[in-house]
Amino acid sequence: MDREAAFELIDQLQGLGFRKTIYFHVLGEPLLHPHVFPIVDRAAEAGMVPVLFTNGGALTEDVVRGILACKAAEVSISMQTVSRQSCEMLRTTPLEYASYLGQIQRALALAESHKTQQRSPRFRVSVGVNQDDSDPPEDGHVVEQESVEDVKRSISAIFGQVKGADLARVRRALDADGIAGTGCLPVTDRLAVSVRPVGNWRRMWGDTPVSSGCCPHFGKELAVLSNGWVTLCHFDYDGRARVGDTSERPLSQIVASPQLRQMSEDFLSGKSVPKGCRYCRALVDA
Ligand code: SF4
Repeated sequence: MDREAAFELIDQLQGLGFRKTIYFHVLGEPLLHPHVFPIVDRAAEAGMVPVLFTNGGALTEDVVRGILACKAAEVSISMQTVSRQSCEMLRTTPLEYASYLGQIQRALALAESHKTQQRSPRFRVSVGVNQDDSDPPEDGHVVEQESVEDVKRSISAIFGQVKGADLARVRRALDADGIAGTGCLPVTDRLAVSVRPVGNWRRMWGDTPVSSGCCPHFGKELAVLSNGWVTLCHFDYDGRARVGDTSERPLSQIVASPQLRQMSEDFLSGKSVPKGCRYCRALVDA
């Protein structure tokens, strides 16, 4: 999406009275966009709360300095892995795990060293652990099972270059609650960590359509893809559940359309599943 199109969408959202959290990814990597920081700033100036998600692979020193200078409220480093082995199973990237981890360690140290600057965003590391999902078992995407000790060791390594990192609270939370999901825990005033189970994005879509079910994500978000398609959620990276095209109609018309309203009512009441959602594995029994 070019910069002017992104600005235009932000202006339209502002016109609709939207003032909430805005993200810049639909399973993509916003830090690869050449104009990401002006776009983030435009959203902040329009009264929204910009949050950047990154897998951490693009966190060079220049990019981290760009983040620190922009008006994002938070940058979430979504590691989705807890070990070298998981990383290699999950990602098909030439970036070797030691380099990947080193880049994140340096980014966190740099962010922490800038903590006296005002308005700099919080950096949160989201560590992904294996979600219970044995369907199909041969398609495992991270190591079979991480232990609490594995996760504690990994978190210690991630924050290893941060002076003053306080991981005692994180360790206590992991000991008390296990690794099913810790919520967001502070490590310093500027840095935080969370642990959460992650599913397998490679199996977002099933083979068989379903005619009933409900979705825990539906109605909480809309996403605009890089080509301008508006879709029902940030999981729908290829626009199967698209409900409009911002290159043809403004957002205000798309969100107010009688077709979208009817589809929402039918989905929420359990009457029918939108056509584009019928192969989605996120559906659960109504
Ligand atoms: S069912 Fe799937 S595609 Fe449809 S809104 Fe939910 S997560 Fe998105």
